[in-house]
Amino acid sequence: MYLEPRLEQGPADLLGEGGPLLHELVDALGSPLNIVLPGQIEENVERFRSVFRRHRLTGRIFYAHKANRSSALVRRLVTTDAGLDAASLGELQHALASGWTGDRIMTTGPKDPEFLWLAARAGAIVNADGPGEVEQAARLVRAYELPRLRVVLRLSGFGTSGTTVLSRRSRFGAPAGSVKDLLDTVDRHRDAVEPIGVGYHLDTTSLDEKAAALEGCLWVMEETRARGFSPRAVDVGGGFGVTYLAHAEQWDRYTTALTQAVMGRRPPMTWDGHGYGLRMENGTLKGALGLYPAHRPLAGADYLDELLSRPAPGLGGRPLGTLLLEGLHELYVEPGRALVDQCGLTLGRVLDVRATETGEHLVRLAMNAGDTGLEDHGVLMDPVLLPRDGGPAAGGERPAAVHLMGNLCLESDLITRRVVHLPRLPRPGDLLAFPNTAGYCMDFGATHAQRQPVARKVAVHREGGAWHWCLDEQYWPITRPGRQRT
Ligand SMILES: *Cc1c(COP(=O)(O)O)cnc(C)c1O
Repeated sequence: MYLEPRLEQGPADLLGEGGPLLHELVDALGSPLNIVLPGQIEENVERFRSVFRRHRLTGRIFYAHKANRSSALVRRLVTTDAGLDAASLGELQHALASGWTGDRIMTTGPKDPEFLWLAARAGAIVNADGPGEVEQAARLVRAYELPRLRVVLRLSGFGTSGTTVLSRRSRFGAPAGSVKDLLDTVDRHRDAVEPIGVGYHLDTTSLDEKAAALEGCLWVMEETRARGFSPRAVDVGGGFGVTYLAHAEQWDRYTTALTQAVMGRRPPMTWDGHGYGLRMENGTLKGALGLYPAHRPLAGADYLDELLSRPAPGLGGRPLGTLLLEGLHELYVEPGRALVDQCGLTLGRVLDVRATETGEHLVRLAMNAGDTGLEDHGVLMDPVLLPRDGGPAAGGERPAAVHLMGNLCLESDLITRRVVHLPRLPRPGDLLAFPNTAGYCMDFGATHAQRQPVARKVAVHREGGAWHWCLDEQYWPITRPGRQRT
């Protein structure tokens, strides 16, 4: 029941030959420790960019900063042609201080007046969450004599023409059905705000829902033009997803077996028989599997490619990408998780290994559940064992299935409720590496609970065969005197 993580070259090399360096870093900086790989984010931008090229579209790739707090990633990204999506005042300040200029920034999410003011002051685009926000922004622009604000109108609640597919409920965005009110508001404030586009961000993996939303946006672009505005961009938001696992078969086998375990047809595969949303009630299986689809046939840039290739149901069945092109629309995307795919990993030191009366093995790590967020996001995969002595992970010993416990004095503090599989039983001093945690996992939910240390973050890059590292906040994408370019 292995769930082998998918590793691209960069992180695979680091976890292989870079093992001694990772031990050294944890010895010096403590456990847990987060590693980010700035070079990797540049590759991910290029993958999205190549999909734009394939569909002959121009536009912008806005990195959704909220996926990771890292400075190194944001500073490396500013050297590319990407944009940045800031979802708080702090993220906006961080971007501006990292070399971003307002014209490359879009602000999304709930906005307080300070956030709106700084966005307008800096000339950022405001992704407006409805008529109220347009009003508020227009008032600020007038009161503080700010430049006319570029806004993207965020919509939600799309339906397809007459059929049953409706997008799920969202607390964000103006209902597509009441776009008239929204445009009336924009009209009243034309001196202060300029609608440069319309868009959505739907937290779903469903291509059907997104295709319906994109088509809905194309209609609204026309309505906006009919009001005498010149919108130019359709913003399809983020949510392109990541494939965490190397093998689809392992994922299928695992989820099937988990269902059987919940039904009592095989031994439990989780702590306390946890069913990840599935349960037995009077002999029947109830609930739904609440896990991230850890192996996805389409993720990241490929998902965008497929969305653009989809026929628009209500517009003659022509591909959505073609319709964007013919409408002379630019495409905006806001990938978070997908843009930091393979860009980081989390290390935890093994503190204690013990056997229970029933023969299970409990491994306690110098980190807690908040340091990986794997459970929060329902992401299941096996960690990579980095032996203390640097030797091979399996030297003649038998593979082991273990429970991973955190360092909080709390029954619920499990790094993952799944039993994980390792090439051998770990020993105190070994490291476990949790791959691909840069998207939401490594720092989104980390806390100072019980005054346990929050992971430091280190940027690692490779130069001519040698590994180099620095603290995340020390990373700048420049050559320093006497040193290689980072
Ligand atoms: C979170 C968020 C994103 C990024 O979502 P991912 O699933 O990480 O790609 C993009 N846009 C908005 C408005 C968001 O809130």
